[in-house]
Amino acid sequence: MQNKDESRTSLLSDASKRLERALKYVKISSDAIARLQHPKTSLSVSIPVRMDDGSLKVFSGYRVRYDDTRGAGKGGVRYHPHVSLDEVQSLAFWMTFKCALLDLPFGGAKGGITVDPKELSKAELERLSRGYVDAIADAIGIDTDILAPDVYTNATIMGWMMDQYSIIQRKLCRGVVTGKHLSLGGSKGRDTATAMGAFTVIQTMLHKIKLIPQNTTVAVQGFGNAGSTLAGLLDKAGYKVVAVSDSKGGIYAPQGLDIASIRKHKNQSREMKAVYCHDTVCSIVEHEVITNQELLALDVDVLIPAALENQITQNNAADIKAKYIFEVANGPINSDADRILAEKDVYVFPDILVNAGGVTVSYFEWVQNRSGWYWTLEEINQRLQEKMQIEAQQTWKIAQDLTIDIRTAAYVHALNRLGEALDAKGTREQFVHN
Ligand code: GLU
Repeated sequence: MQNKDESRTSLLSDASKRLERALKYVKISSDAIARLQHPKTSLSVSIPVRMDDGSLKVFSGYRVRYDDTRGAGKGGVRYHPHVSLDEVQSLAFWMTFKCALLDLPFGGAKGGITVDPKELSKAELERLSRGYVDAIADAIGIDTDILAPDVYTNATIMGWMMDQYSIIQRKLCRGVVTGKHLSLGGSKGRDTATAMGAFTVIQTMLHKIKLIPQNTTVAVQGFGNAGSTLAGLLDKAGYKVVAVSDSKGGIYAPQGLDIASIRKHKNQSREMKAVYCHDTVCSIVEHEVITNQELLALDVDVLIPAALENQITQNNAADIKAKYIFEVANGPINSDADRILAEKDVYVFPDILVNAGGVTVSYFEWVQNRSGWYWTLEEINQRLQEKMQIEAQQTWKIAQDLTIDIRTAAYVHALNRLGEALDAKGTREQFVHN
C-alpha cells in the first residue's frame, strides 16, 4: 500500500510544514518554535537475533523522543520493512502534537524495527522484541518514555517488552509499556480504543455537518485493528460502508458491505480478496474487487485512510471524490495533497485528533498501572468519549473562529498547550534585561 519511496525521504520536513502553517495563529516564543523543530533524542540501534536455523541476523531499530516538556515520551513501536529513522522521527513528531491536543500529560515518542514480522517465527519475534528492549533500555522508563503497540505490533509483543524491561530493572515495571494483555496489567478497552475514539470524532463532526448515518457512504482503506473495528462500529451505527481493503486489495459493493461477516472471514483466512458470497447479507451482495488506489478515488461521502502514511499525495489527490476524510492512519495525506484537497473543498479531519483514542486509553492504562486501581470498561469508554468529544469540539471551534482548515486548527490547539509548557520552563526573554 506504499506509494513511491521518493516521498518517504522527507517525511519529517513534510510533517513540520503543518507546524509552520499553524504558527501564524499562535502566540509562541521563538525559543519554543526552535525547540519544536528538532527531535530531542534519536537513538539508532542494531539488534542481533539468533534465528531458528542457528544463523545470526542483525536488525535495525530506532527510538525517538521528540519532546518531553509536557511529560514522559509516549508512543508506539512499529515493525515494518519500510521503517527508517526519518519515519520514526515524524511519527514521534505527530505523537507530540497528538498528546498535547488531547491534553495528556505526555510528550511524543516513537519506535520501530525494520523488519517484515510475517517472515519471522513466533520465537524469533520474541527474541527480536526482547533484543530491542535490551538495546533501548537506558532510553525508556515509566517516567521517561513509554512504549505501546503500532503497525504490526500487538499485546503479546507489548507483554514481552514489559517483561524484558522488568528483568533488566529487577522489578515489575508494568507502566513502561501500554497495550499489554489484561492479564499483565493491560487496560480494558485498549484494543478497541483507536476505533472508538475515531468513531466519536466522526459522530461529533458529522453531526455538526448534519450528515445522517443512513445516507452516508463510507470507504475504509486498511483492515487492521483500527480500520476493521471502526468499519464494524460504523456499520452497526447505520452508515453504509461500501468498500474496505487490506494491503492486497479491496472489495466494493455500492449497496453496502456486511462488515461483521467480512471481519469473521478475514480473521479466519487472513485475506479479504476472497470474500465473495458466504453467509448472511453477504450472500445477496455482489462484491467488486478493487485496488487500494481505486478505493481512495471512490465516489463516497466519507473516506477513511486507516493503513499507512503517504497514501494521498500530489499524485492522486485530484482523483479524490469524497467530501470528508478522517485520517485514522498516521500521516496518510502529505502536505502537497493538503493543498489540492483544500482547493477541492474537502474537509480533512487530521490524524492527531482522529486516531488519538489509542494513546488516550494508553494514558488510562499507565494511570491504572501506577495506582494499581483498575477501571471498568464502561468507565474507560465514557472517559475516552468525553475526552475525544471535548477536544474535537474545541478543534472545530478554533477552525470556525479563525476560518482555517481543521488540520491547522488541531495544530493551533496543540501548539497553544505545548508553547505554554515550553515557555513555562524558561525562554530567553526571561533572562534578557535591558
Ligand atoms: N501507536 C498509537 C498511535 O500512533 C498509540 C500510541 C500509544 O498508545 O502510545 O497513536
